Amino acid sequence: MNSEQKQLKVLRCTCCGAPAPAYAQWSNQDIGYGICPRCRDMVVKKYGERRLQWLYGNRGEHHSIEESNASTA
Ligand SMILES: [Zn+2]
Repeated sequence: MNSEQKQLKVLRCTCCGAPAPAYAQWSNQDIGYGICPRCRDMVVKKYGERRLQWLYGNRGEHHSIEESNASTA
């Protein structure tokens, strides 16, 4: 077990209820809730990246885990 590795949690998407993997809970969401990639794209289109960050947190930490892993791996 590597204690330096962040623990991946599967939160629930606050929009559609789909699994929403995250390393950390974002403070603007209820405990156990995040956002899935599909709804994230919708939020970005509708409200923009800044609002996404404010509402749902940072990519690669509070949501969008797979994408950021793929780009840094
Ligand atoms: Zn969703």
